[in-house]
Amino acid sequence: MSESSVPSLNHQPKPSTLVMKFGGTSVGTAEAMTQAVHIVIDAKRTWDRVVVTTSALSGVTNLLLDSANAAARGETQPYIQAAQELRQKHYSVIQPLIPNPTRQYQVKQDIDHLINDFISLCQAIAILGEATPRALDAVGSLGERMAVRILAPALESKSVPAQFVESTLLVITDDHFQSAHPDFTETTHCTRQVLEPILAQNEVPVVTGFIGATPGGVTTTLGRGGSDYSAAILAAALPADEVWIWTDVDGVMTADPRLVPNARTINELSYREVSELAYFGAKVLHPKTIIPVIDAGIGLRVCNTFNPGHPGTRLVSDKQVTQNHGTIKAVTAVRGLQLITVEGRGMLGVPGVAARTFGAVAATGTSVPLITQASSEQTICFAVPMEATAEILRSLQDTFANEIARQDIDRVWATEEVVIITIVGEGMRSTPGISGRIFSALGEKCVNVIAIAQGSSEVGMSLVVAVEDILPAVQCLHDLTLKTTTTMTTG
Ligand code: ADP
Ligand code: ASP
Ligand code: MG
Repeated sequence: MSESSVPSLNHQPKPSTLVMKFGGTSVGTAEAMTQAVHIVIDAKRTWDRVVVTTSALSGVTNLLLDSANAAARGETQPYIQAAQELRQKHYSVIQPLIPNPTRQYQVKQDIDHLINDFISLCQAIAILGEATPRALDAVGSLGERMAVRILAPALESKSVPAQFVESTLLVITDDHFQSAHPDFTETTHCTRQVLEPILAQNEVPVVTGFIGATPGGVTTTLGRGGSDYSAAILAAALPADEVWIWTDVDGVMTADPRLVPNARTINELSYREVSELAYFGAKVLHPKTIIPVIDAGIGLRVCNTFNPGHPGTRLVSDKQVTQNHGTIKAVTAVRGLQLITVEGRGMLGVPGVAARTFGAVAATGTSVPLITQASSEQTICFAVPMEATAEILRSLQDTFANEIARQDIDRVWATEEVVIITIVGEGMRSTPGISGRIFSALGEKCVNVIAIAQGSSEVGMSLVVAVEDILPAVQCLHDLTLKTTTTMTTG
C-alpha cells in the first residue's frame, strides 16, 4: 500500500448540512410558525447541521414599504397605523410560541425597538419628502429582522438550541439598493466565519432572508421575494448538501394554482426549466435562486410547510432529468407589461439601431424580459413593465430625434397592457409539431398572439397576448400540459 493510500486515522465523515427557508405564509401566524418549528425539529433528527433562513411574516414587507412610500408623499397616518398593526401581528405569534414570561418580555422588547426604528425612518422620509432606494431597504429589511427574533426563541422553547443571525454580517453585496448583487467571495468568507462556530455548538442559526449589506455595513436587499435567493447563497457559501424551500403549495406546479385550479405538482424539474418558469412569473421561486447552487451541485427542493409529508418538487441538473417523456410541463403568466415598438422603413439594414434602442432603455434602469425583431429589420419590439413605459418612450424619442425628424423611424409606440405567457418543458425541443398544437389551442379559444419569442435554451416559448386573454390562454395551454406530460402527481 502506498503512503498516500493509507487512510487517515483522524478521518471524520463530512457532516451533512441542510439549509431550509421558510416563506412569509410559513411563519405568518402562530399555527404556521408552530408547523415550521416542527419541521426544523424533524430535520435535526436526520441532518448533522441545519441552517434556517426566513422571510418576514406574510404581508409585513408590503406594509413596511407601502408606509414608507406614503410617508414620502407626506402621509403620516399610514405608518402610525402600520406600527400598531406590526406590533399586534408579531405579538400574536410571540405569545403562544414563547411561553416563558421573561423570554417573551425580551422578545416583545426587541420587536418594539425595531418598530421604533420603523417610525423614526418613516418620520425622516416624511421630512425629506423622498424615499430613496437605500431608505426603502432600511425599512424593508425590518420584517425579516423581526421574524428571526421570534423564530429563534420559538425553537429554543421547544428545546432546539438556536440563535438569530443578521445576514448583514454574512451576505456582502454591492450598493445596488433594492436588488443588490452579492460578492460571493466575501460572502463565503463571512458566512463561514459567523455560522461555523454556531453550527459547531450544535445550534441552529436562524438567519434573516432577503437582506445583505455593503462592505461598509449599509443594509441592502436582494429584491422582492429574495429570501429564496438568500437560502441558496448561504448553502453555496457553507457549502450545504441541500436547500429546501418551504412555502404554501406542494412545490412547483403546472401553473399558478390561483389561475388554474386543477394545476398539479411537478415531481422533478431541471434547473433550466425552473429558471425559465421563475423568470417568467412562477412566484414560487425567486429567479436567481438556482444561480449559486447549480455549479456547486447542491440539491434544491420546494415543499409545503402545511403538507410536509408531500415530497414537493425536486430540482435537478439538466442531465439528471429522468422524467422527460412529456413535452410541455408548465405554463406561467406575467402581467403588468406593455410592448414597445420602434418601427420605420429607414431602419432596414442600418447597423446600430438595436444597440441604440436598448441603450436608451438601459439608461432608464429597466430590464427587458422579452424581445422580438421582424426579419425585415423594420421593427424592433420588446416588453417592458408598465410603470417604466412613459420614461422609456421619452428616452427613445430623445435618442432617435434625428431619425424621427428624417422619417427613417416612423413611430415609437406602446400597446395597452399585455401578458407574457410562457410554456416550459425540456422535452419541447425534441417534439415535432409542438408549436402547431400551441397555436391551434390558442386559436380555438380565439386568443390572438401579438408576439412570440423562443429562448435559445429552447426549454421555453413565450407568447404575448392581450391582458383580457390571460385566463383562456393559460387554461387552454395548461390543458395541453395535461395531455402531454406524464410526470406529475396530484397536489
Ligand atoms: P413564500 O412566501 O413561501 O415565498 P410566495 O407567495 O412567494 O411564497 O410563492 C408561493 C406562491 O406562488 C403560491 O402560493 C402560488 O400562488 C404562487 N405560484 C405562482 N406560480 C406558481 C407555480 N407554477 N407553482 C406553484 N406556485 C405558484
Ligand atoms: N419579505 C420579502 C418580500 O416580501 C422577501 C421574501 O419574502 O422572500 O419580498
Ligand atoms: Mg417567495
